[in-house]
Amino acid sequence: MREIGLLSKPGASLARRRFLVAGGMGAAGLAGCVAQPAPKADASLAPIRAGTDRIFDVTVCLRPFRAAGPRLEAERIGDQVVVHNYGHGGSGWSLSWGSSTLAVQMAMAGSPREIAVIGCGALGLTSAILGQQAGARVTIYTRDLLPQSRSARATGSWTPDSRIALASAAPAGFPALWETMARTSFKTYRSYLGLPGAPVEWRDQYFLTDAPMEHRPKPRAQGELDFAVYRTRIEDLRPDLDVLRPGATPFRSRYVARTTAMQFNLASYGHTLLNDFRAAGGQIAIREFASPADFASLKQKVVINCPGYGARALWRDTSIIPVRGQIAWLIPQPEVNYGLFFNDVFVLSRSDGIVVQDLSGGDMKGYGEDREIPDRKAAENVVGSVADLYDHHWG
Ligand SMILES: Cc1cc2nc3c(=O)[nH]c(=O)nc-3n(C[C@H](O)[C@H](O)[C@H](O)COP(=O)(O)OP(=O)(O)OC[C@H]3O[C@@H](n4cnc5c(N)ncnc54)[C@H](O)[C@@H]3O)c2cc1C
Repeated sequence: MREIGLLSKPGASLARRRFLVAGGMGAAGLAGCVAQPAPKADASLAPIRAGTDRIFDVTVCLRPFRAAGPRLEAERIGDQVVVHNYGHGGSGWSLSWGSSTLAVQMAMAGSPREIAVIGCGALGLTSAILGQQAGARVTIYTRDLLPQSRSARATGSWTPDSRIALASAAPAGFPALWETMARTSFKTYRSYLGLPGAPVEWRDQYFLTDAPMEHRPKPRAQGELDFAVYRTRIEDLRPDLDVLRPGATPFRSRYVARTTAMQFNLASYGHTLLNDFRAAGGQIAIREFASPADFASLKQKVVINCPGYGARALWRDTSIIPVRGQIAWLIPQPEVNYGLFFNDVFVLSRSDGIVVQDLSGGDMKGYGEDREIPDRKAAENVVGSVADLYDHHWG
């Protein structure tokens, strides 16, 4: 396990300590913590039916990682202003509203009546909606609509500093900019809570481990890059991780801890965004751009450029490195109202599927890999680990 740390939060009792966990989803160092009183097993927890026959899809996505952090700047090309808004690594959904708020501020500097947005992923859609809210008529030009865009294949967790930059390569002002983006996004997500279809919701997550671990960050493995960790800047936004007494849950792991995390049910959330955009008069044109020179044919003089990993080909931006990630999708079980992390396996129960991911290898997993073909065997293996948990460590 990486990035394990244990800090007492000011004002927190011994029984409510904070664990620094990778991407908001790592296991924690649980030894030596004082457990919460929790007399009875929580009967409301339902088991996951993790048969490989219940895998209804296996998807692969590429995180658009840039060592210096996302490209967020305006560039004049001929008579057009192009505002770049791409390269958000494993944090594109989490930072989308904050990053797009900054992009739209740059785009609206000259008060254009119309703007074009390139791309219909997390960053394109949020830029488009915020552009409308700022008073512009917005057209999205995109090769793919959201369901076909890479954003639709994300886990759906609030992970604002997941593979967002390298600590050594990010500019000096980036941590503060990141904090602004994270806080703006977090606040905006509040307005999607409690809606029909639960596009965004808070859910419990359980962290299970048998082995006591050290309460300090693990040293980086040889060859591992120094992925930036900024989450301590926004500790006030995240609930603590509470250590539960043995028997408090049906999980029979030696240590069980629980927190509550924000998650995105991306099918519902994506429809909500697209419907909101269209309802406000937004237009969508399916179009592929071969090079930035193609932008000259657009009637809009202000363009927000959100092609995600597509920027590597479109802008010949070799600073974008693909970080491959795969998800095995189990048939949804509405009664499973929690997420799980154990043995480097992460499980998120969403309304559109139970998402199962193998996170072994840490942040370097998939680094530099652009293979988007699903690996069925790997999907069956990770689902097999979930089945094993319920067969042998539950009840
Ligand atoms: C396995 C995995 C899990 C993840 N989980 C999370 C998570 O839980 N939380 C989180 O915050 N982030 C997560 N991410 C990261 C997140 O998915 C990305 O940061 C995010 O999708 C990037 O969004 P985007 O809009 O920049 O790019 P994209 O979703 O790739 O959208 C780009 C858009 O631009 C269009 N486009 C590209 N090139 C062209 C072109 N030449 N012409 C016209 N259109 C073009 C595409 O069609 C597409 O519509 C995860 C990533 C992976 C791989």
